[in-house]
Amino acid sequence: MNRGFLRLDDPVTAIRGIGEAKALLLQRLGIATAEDLVYFFPRRYEDRRQIVTIQDLAPGGPPQAFRARVVSIEQRVARSNRRMQITRVCLSDGKNVAWALWFNRWNLSKILREGMELALYGSLEPRRPVPELLNPEFEILDGSDPRSVGRIVPVYSATAGLNEKWLRRVIDTVLEALVPTIPDILPPPLVEKFHFIDAASAVRQMHQPTDEALFRAARQRLVFEEFFLLQVGLALRHRRGCLEKKAPALTGQGDLTRKFLAGLPFELTDDQRRVAQEIAADMRRSVPMNRLLQGDVGSGKTVVAVMALLQALDSGIQAAMMAPTAVLAQQHALTLNRWLAPLGVEVALLTGGVAPAEKKKIHERLSDGTLRVVVGTHALIQETVSFKRLGLIVIDEQHRFGVLQRKALNSKAGAEAPHTLVMTATPIPRTLALSVYGDLAVSTIRQLPGGRQPVKSVWIGDNRLPKMLRFLESEMAAGRQIYWVCPLIEESENFDAAPLESRFEKLRREFPKRRLAMLHGRMSEKEKNAVMTEFSAGRIDLLASTTVIEVGVDVPNATVMVVENAERFGLSQLHQLRGRVGRGSAKSWCILYADPKNPEAEHRLDQFCALSDGFAIAEADMQLRGPGEFCGVRQHGLTDFRVADLIRDGAVMEVARQEAFALIARGDPYENFPLLMQAVLSRYGRMLDIARTA
Ligand code: ADP
Ligand code: MG
Repeated sequence: MNRGFLRLDDPVTAIRGIGEAKALLLQRLGIATAEDLVYFFPRRYEDRRQIVTIQDLAPGGPPQAFRARVVSIEQRVARSNRRMQITRVCLSDGKNVAWALWFNRWNLSKILREGMELALYGSLEPRRPVPELLNPEFEILDGSDPRSVGRIVPVYSATAGLNEKWLRRVIDTVLEALVPTIPDILPPPLVEKFHFIDAASAVRQMHQPTDEALFRAARQRLVFEEFFLLQVGLALRHRRGCLEKKAPALTGQGDLTRKFLAGLPFELTDDQRRVAQEIAADMRRSVPMNRLLQGDVGSGKTVVAVMALLQALDSGIQAAMMAPTAVLAQQHALTLNRWLAPLGVEVALLTGGVAPAEKKKIHERLSDGTLRVVVGTHALIQETVSFKRLGLIVIDEQHRFGVLQRKALNSKAGAEAPHTLVMTATPIPRTLALSVYGDLAVSTIRQLPGGRQPVKSVWIGDNRLPKMLRFLESEMAAGRQIYWVCPLIEESENFDAAPLESRFEKLRREFPKRRLAMLHGRMSEKEKNAVMTEFSAGRIDLLASTTVIEVGVDVPNATVMVVENAERFGLSQLHQLRGRVGRGSAKSWCILYADPKNPEAEHRLDQFCALSDGFAIAEADMQLRGPGEFCGVRQHGLTDFRVADLIRDGAVMEVARQEAFALIARGDPYENFPLLMQAVLSRYGRMLDIARTA
């Protein structure tokens, strides 16, 4: 290696011993540069500080470190398997001898020589006539101090073609060359305030811990640094949102809102009232609102959203609502029309399935301002759509949208920035919300509207299917409606609806007198809408469906949700499905028809049936699946940390956030902390779209 000249941002091929082939393998571990190697921290550690003698090795005991000399080497083909080669080495530490056996290590007879001194790590096989070790790890000591024993040894995640020992050696050498060049990017006042150790020592401790207290301090610093970088990025984006464009201050008199509330058949819950006020206060300001409204399924977010829409209308400005699927958009359009038509407000629906002529008319009326409320799918963000003056965007079920789509819709307000209200029914654990939605203010509805009983949840296996079918029949006979959800089977790229179709046929034979219908993603939008309209109107008794009905659909007369192969769904997704029932005053059931393959899967189903609170489910789900998989946020890339763990280190995230937002509020960070800003931009510049524009 070209010591002294290797730099953190060099590609790994600049390191001696790494060619194109090895570089490709490293790529699989997410390692492209020397810096990636420096920050590729061990998966675990082995405490090999204590070096014992051969006499101390206990047959069948844990692996231990010892030193010994090679007395003799023999290599032969195994008697039982002619393709297996055995290398047998006699070792002595001056007092005792032991034998080490390696299999299929052809090169050993060339590497090892009689008289060589080795550092070894392994354990004695139990019940052998002579002391024997199988495949011990070894290091040749040519007078130098051993690196593989006598200390705490890092264990890295290897991958096929890259063994662990090789990785350790490469990382060792890279650290040697680069650790002194690791810059300290944290602002000195913070380092002082929290007594952080310096970055170089922290990195070295992570790879080569010397003692527990220092190791903890190292981890603490690096966790903080990772969270802090993200939060500085989010703070920058937040500041830009506040500075760049002004939003229209929506200070209308509230006539429509008052009329709307007077006509509502129910009282708002305290939570609904509180979050509506938070939202209204935001929208009265000329700083664009960026607010996340989270509330469990059925908590009544739609009413709150409508109040926000009306505030825009009351101020003489347009409002849009975006949903992730056409079914949902259609559903929202129906609800909004039901509530707003009596107020003389027209609501248009704009989805991909709307006929071209109709679409054109909507486009025209949006741009001349005669149409004031539109509900749609991503058809809303097509380039041809423009508004006269858009004051508010409500986005339902945010996690289905990419960050970029949100931005595209934002640009629809021209020189102004619209207020944005994002709604989600997948409650997000606070730490995750702070990272994924870190530039949003959060309003939470925790209370469900009164008069509602919790949905009774059970899981059953095949043996109880006949009983369940009889129960479904009795519910339908009582005039109730049923959802039956089957999972999609992912076959190569195409989604296969076969399980749904065959289930549908069976159900048809089972309930010949009942009205059954099917709903899945491969149907045209028109067909889907027709089915949903029929179901909403009570003209369908049982709707067999894929998860297209997962979010938002609201049919209060539906009282049973059956989820087939429930073991294939995540907890949050099951909770979403369960939220489709229990929306009226009648008792409702969620029946998981499942085939758990192991005790863990059974436990998960039990856990789900026992939990009814969406926040508790979300926490459990995040712990089970990890934050990345949880609610599909992996795509954001905002939850990939090198050291930090969103679950373990949640409290640090809060602190990092306060410090980051305070720092950005104080003055020009580019001037005061150039290294920090460089790190933030190189890590999050593109992801957060905060690259500095001169
Ligand atoms: P979500 O938060 O899941 O979007 P919705 O807004 O669809 O929930 O509301 C669920 C149901 O509860 C709807 O039928 C809605 O009309 C009703 N609802 C909303 N708020 C209240 C309330 N305060 N009291 C009674 N029912 C309510
Ligand atoms: Mg909803």
